[in-house]
Amino acid sequence: MSNPTPRGDDGRTHINSRLMRESLQNKDVLSGTDSERDLQIFPDVSLVSIGGQSIFDRGKDAILPLVAEIVKIKQDKTVKMVIGVGGGTRVRHTISIAVDLGLPVGGMAQLVGAMEELNAILLNTLLAPHGSMPMQRDHFWDLPLYFDAGITPIAISVPPYHFWEPPPDHGHLPAHGSDFGLFTLADVLGMKQVIFVKDEDGLYDKDPKKHKDAKLFGKITLTELMKQFPEDNILDQELFHAWKNAKNLKRIVIVNGLKEGQLTRAMRGEDVGTVIIKEDARG
Ligand code: ADP
Ligand code: MG
Repeated sequence: MSNPTPRGDDGRTHINSRLMRESLQNKDVLSGTDSERDLQIFPDVSLVSIGGQSIFDRGKDAILPLVAEIVKIKQDKTVKMVIGVGGGTRVRHTISIAVDLGLPVGGMAQLVGAMEELNAILLNTLLAPHGSMPMQRDHFWDLPLYFDAGITPIAISVPPYHFWEPPPDHGHLPAHGSDFGLFTLADVLGMKQVIFVKDEDGLYDKDPKKHKDAKLFGKITLTELMKQFPEDNILDQELFHAWKNAKNLKRIVIVNGLKEGQLTRAMRGEDVGTVIIKEDARG
C-alpha cells in the first residue's frame, strides 16, 4: 500500500473518510456532500393520507364510502398503497387542554400520535376483512411482505419529534404536523406520490369555507405555488418549506374524499383535484 501504517498499527483503526476531522457545520464541507438524488426505496408506492378532521370526524357518512372505494382500489393486486391517518378534532381538544395546563411544545407534540392511533384502529377495524395491518413507520422493510400478501399498511402520520419538537416561529403549537410527517415519510422512502384525502376539491387561493370566491389550483409546480402562497392552507406550512429542499418526492395530490372516484383517479396517476409537481432537483 502507498501509505505505510506506523509501526505497531495494522491499519484497522485508521479509517480514511472524507469527513474525518471536519466540523460538519462548514458550508464548503456541507455542499461537497450533495448528491443528485437519493436511493429510491419504494418508487412505485403511493402514500394515501386520510384526514382526521376533514374525513374521520365526519363519521360513517364520510368513512364508509371511502373504505368501499379503497377496497375496490385494492382489487388491482399491482396497486401499492400505504395509508396514513390524522387525529382530527381530538388532537385540537387535547392540545387546547395542554395549552391551558402550560405544557411545553415538546410535551404537546408527544400527545398527538395517541389520537391518530385511535383513527388507525378504527380504519383497521373496517379494512381488516379486506386485508390491513398497523404499520410502524420505521419498519419500512416489512412493506414488500404486506404488498405480496394483499395487506394495506396503516400508519399514524405525525412525525416523532416528541420532546425534541423545535420551538415554533409563531405561537405555542408544534409546527410539525401530520401532513408534514407523511411528506417526510414519502420523501425518505422515495415514494411515487402523496395523495391527501380531505373534504375540499384541493388547494384554493383562500380557505373555501370562509371565502365563496376562492379559486382552486389545478396542476401547478411548487415554484409557481410558492410565488402565490395562500395565507390559509389545507396542508401544514412546514411541508412546503421542507419540500423546497427535498430531493426525492415529485408529486403531491390533494383530493376530495367526500366525492367518490377522486382517490381512485389519483391512484391511477390522473390529474385530479390539486396536483403539485416538484419539477427540478431543488428549487
Ligand atoms: P385534516 O384534519 O384532514 O388535516 P384540516 O381541517 O386540517 O383537515 O384541513 C382541511 C380544511 O382546510 C378544509 O376543510 C378547509 O376549510 C381548510 N382550508 C384552509 N385553507 C385552505 C385552502 N387554501 N384551500 C383549501 N382548504 C383550505
Ligand atoms: Mg390538518
